[in-house]
Amino acid sequence: MSREKRISRLRTQDLRLTMKYTAPTKEGYFGKFGGKFVPEILIPALEGLEEAYEESLNNPVFLKEYHDLLKEYVGRPTKLTFANRLTDHYGRGKIYLKREDLCHTGAHKINNAIGQLLLARNMGKTRIIAETGAGQHGVATATACAKFGFECVIYMGAEDMERQKLNVDRMRLLGAEVRSVTSGSQTLKDATNEAIRDWVTNVENTFYIIGSVVGPHPYPVMTRNFHRVIGEETKEQLKQTEGRLPDYLIACVGGGSNAIGFFYPFIEDEDVKMIGIEAAGLGADTDQTAATLTIGTPGVLHGSLSYLLHDSEGQVQLAHSISAGLDYPGIGPEHSHLFDTKRVHYFGVTDQQAMDAVQRVSATEGIIPAIETAHAFAYLEKLMPLTQRDEIVVVNCSGRGDKDMKTISEWFG
Ligand SMILES: *Cc1c(COP(=O)(O)O)cnc(C)c1O
Repeated sequence: MSREKRISRLRTQDLRLTMKYTAPTKEGYFGKFGGKFVPEILIPALEGLEEAYEESLNNPVFLKEYHDLLKEYVGRPTKLTFANRLTDHYGRGKIYLKREDLCHTGAHKINNAIGQLLLARNMGKTRIIAETGAGQHGVATATACAKFGFECVIYMGAEDMERQKLNVDRMRLLGAEVRSVTSGSQTLKDATNEAIRDWVTNVENTFYIIGSVVGPHPYPVMTRNFHRVIGEETKEQLKQTEGRLPDYLIACVGGGSNAIGFFYPFIEDEDVKMIGIEAAGLGADTDQTAATLTIGTPGVLHGSLSYLLHDSEGQVQLAHSISAGLDYPGIGPEHSHLFDTKRVHYFGVTDQQAMDAVQRVSATEGIIPAIETAHAFAYLEKLMPLTQRDEIVVVNCSGRGDKDMKTISEWFG
């Protein structure tokens, strides 16, 4: 049965929890996914990082500094906003928005950039490198580096630099060096390859800040934990306003960091149904797509085993999405595991559906969502008619759309 058919026949009971969550192993495996598939030269760096990270978890000085920065610099806790007009539009369940778009720099990514930068400093590394797709992780990293006075080199695909020129200018203004990557599809996958190459060469003094829950262990678990504040706040805020847990959580999934940070604190709450939305591009049945879980198969990319878009010879396929932040042929290993165990359900949304949602949410809520985020909003079209009036749906509003105005203007002519 095609995925399109599955969506149209979706029943809410299909979204119930079917299997218990299992934590990652010490080697960083979530079920069969994850691990450390890197050149040998990087193993000591990963082991050093693991040690520093584990130490930080029990270090009250580190935790206080991290949480103080989230509060005073990032602007946390972010709001949980009741979307009254969007709720009226569907006339069914209540819709709330977790407002990561209100974070300093306009998206969730700064939570992780700040956390990893503090680790780098504690490890005595003074040179920071990062890859970026939409430019949001580059901006978040450049921002954190400026705040701490660290050297910062950002790798970005040439095509993304074109699509996200404003973010390139922001990074440069923040003092980062932006290196254009012209290999392959000139997007995030290629920028990540270049960043790994740099890391291998300069591993002594360089810390690689990865922007999503991808890469070799311990990055996926570490990045998830730097974002779990999103779900923890949501839980607390909803308890204050509604006195109970949500029925549905929806988030967009590129590498999967905003989604897993939002989902993770609810993962043991069996009645909370979770939906991850991938970018289907022109359609999951075309070759212009980034719907990794919908049509991908397991393979190794950028240091871990996960679902992946690749051909029968193992060549990684070019992903396509109108949103630069979802245009990645892989996905984090924890999502691959949550997909296999059906604890989270994943669906694709096309460019067209996402752009329609940009318009709808802007005009009904006065919030211009990032195109990435609009993929999550688009799925409300499928989900809301199935909800009851007393049910609660929370959408993770991962970022704001200012950076996408050029694409949005061109799309709507
Ligand atoms: C980068 C980005 C995403 C996708 O990355 P995840 O790691 O999947 O969260 C989604 N939304 C916004 C606004 C982004 O900047």
